[in-house]
Amino acid sequence: MNSYLRSGIDTESTIAYFSMEIGIASDIPTYSGGLGVLAGDTLKSCADLGLPVVGITLLYRKGYFRQEITGQGEQKEHPVDWRPEDHLQRLPGKIVLDEIEGRSIITQAWLYIYTGTTGKPVPILFLDTDLEENEEPDRRLTDSLYAGDSEFRLKQEILLGIGGVKYLRELGFNRIHTYHMNEGHSSLLTLELLREHQRTVFETWDEETVWDVEKVKSLCVFTTHTPVSAGHDRFGFDLVERVLKTGISMNVIRRLSGEDCLNMTTLGLNLSRFANGVAYQHGDVSSGMFPHHQIDFITNGIHTYTWVHESFRKLFDRHARLWKNDPKYLREAMSIPRDEVWQAHLECKNELFDRVSKMMSETFDPNILTLGFARRAAAYKRASLMFRHLDRLIEIAESSPGLQIVYAGKSHPKDEAGKRLIREIHEFQKKIEQRTKKLKLVYIPNYNMDLGYYITGGVDVWVNTPIRPHEASGTSGMKAALNGVLNLSILDGWWVEGCIEGVTGWAIGDLDPRLDLSPDDRDDLDCKNLHDTLESKVIPKYYEDRTGWADMQCQAIAINGSLFNTHRQMEQYVTKAYFSCR
Ligand SMILES: *Cc1c(COP(=O)(O)O)cnc(C)c1O
Repeated sequence: MNSYLRSGIDTESTIAYFSMEIGIASDIPTYSGGLGVLAGDTLKSCADLGLPVVGITLLYRKGYFRQEITGQGEQKEHPVDWRPEDHLQRLPGKIVLDEIEGRSIITQAWLYIYTGTTGKPVPILFLDTDLEENEEPDRRLTDSLYAGDSEFRLKQEILLGIGGVKYLRELGFNRIHTYHMNEGHSSLLTLELLREHQRTVFETWDEETVWDVEKVKSLCVFTTHTPVSAGHDRFGFDLVERVLKTGISMNVIRRLSGEDCLNMTTLGLNLSRFANGVAYQHGDVSSGMFPHHQIDFITNGIHTYTWVHESFRKLFDRHARLWKNDPKYLREAMSIPRDEVWQAHLECKNELFDRVSKMMSETFDPNILTLGFARRAAAYKRASLMFRHLDRLIEIAESSPGLQIVYAGKSHPKDEAGKRLIREIHEFQKKIEQRTKKLKLVYIPNYNMDLGYYITGGVDVWVNTPIRPHEASGTSGMKAALNGVLNLSILDGWWVEGCIEGVTGWAIGDLDPRLDLSPDDRDDLDCKNLHDTLESKVIPKYYEDRTGWADMQCQAIAINGSLFNTHRQMEQYVTKAYFSCR
């Protein structure tokens, strides 16, 4: 018997899921945003469904960062104070990684076992180089997520991809038939697999290594998450040649990963038997970006049990009995009495407003229509779009009983545009304070899964304003829908599929991306459309037709909650990607 079985690892698993970030819970701060939370939710559904999966990521001892927002609206970053030993179990096995500059780096792993609703465990490995045996710079390799320059990033990705495969072997995972790369960060795992399957042929005058590309292709699956070319990891070949030591010639690496530089997406696509984008529209956009590859789509989801609020959990237990192990049954939410839905919603709202008053010393009124906007503060998400025509927004608020807005979100420490967004919203807040009492807003610092849970369930309307088609999927709106919070969003990412106008929520504008417009004109139009819909549809529905509102809440849960979850997502990965014979 394999000794690791004692640690609770079943090394018979056949699917290995690699991700640069995995978010399981707020107190394991090894994620930055949607990508990591999706990875965590995915693994949780694998456990619930009993899929034989093992997850692999890095251990970030300083986390991503803890966000402070100063009185001037400036974001300050602090290391996260957490002790891995409080949450994870250190595994005894050590491997030697010598692919980074040819130096031996000792690597160990920490184990987290997620046990699903049906009792099946999924092991998740967190690789760690902060060991006494290693030299100081190598010990810092696993300190922080998405920190450092491109050389540092390449080293982290060597650790994840190549170190990850090596560590699986150390543990005795020898039956894996699918290596799933969740985004390009882990694509270097293909090089380790090439080495494992290399053959040497002897010619009369020389010997030659044959890289079995077809074999590796048959083992790998790739998911892309980024519809913007600049968002794909790229490394210059001079850097790669200096840092990455695999014994595979640069010539071969070039042919597999791109002509001008090592493009991690190209490498992943070239060595995968199946590739997908993360929503219908994103599959299309990705196919356009990589015309030589077939790119399917599997729309993202959320882990229902993680994101449903206590008050709704109780409702679902009564009215949609089988929902917990199969969220398709949330279709029965149509029959929940409307006053019970509203009551459950008010509980969520009060829970959030308690936090707002404790954290922000600001009193929000549960009778007032409340909008939510919480996600990474990245420029394309345009967090400040609704203030673009501030006079109009104030007018709309003043001619209604009132409007409240809850914001949250971290900007990447080096993303100046993202930081500017946070400052801008802060400045708008000051302006609004002086002009009206009918419009209130707070920006809650340090967005994380915990806060996400309270905000996505505790507001009335979930707003999303990305520049089309930059939102690959988006998942926070799915968390909202599950808790009867209605989406008001640009038709981008998952909302192209999720929006049934006036039934599950509302669209901002239409499907036409209006590529003919300048960025300024496009933002003007999107802001106008947002205000129009808010004024003519959302506000009247909320204040004048409470039953109609509760109908929509039930429809959002029944129609979208039942579909946009990681259980359905994994069923599609199983049939399209993992066990397909196509
Ligand atoms: C769900 C979630 C996200 C994803 O939000 P999007 O709006 O889809 O970008 C990001 N961060 C946290 C903490 C989340 O829980």
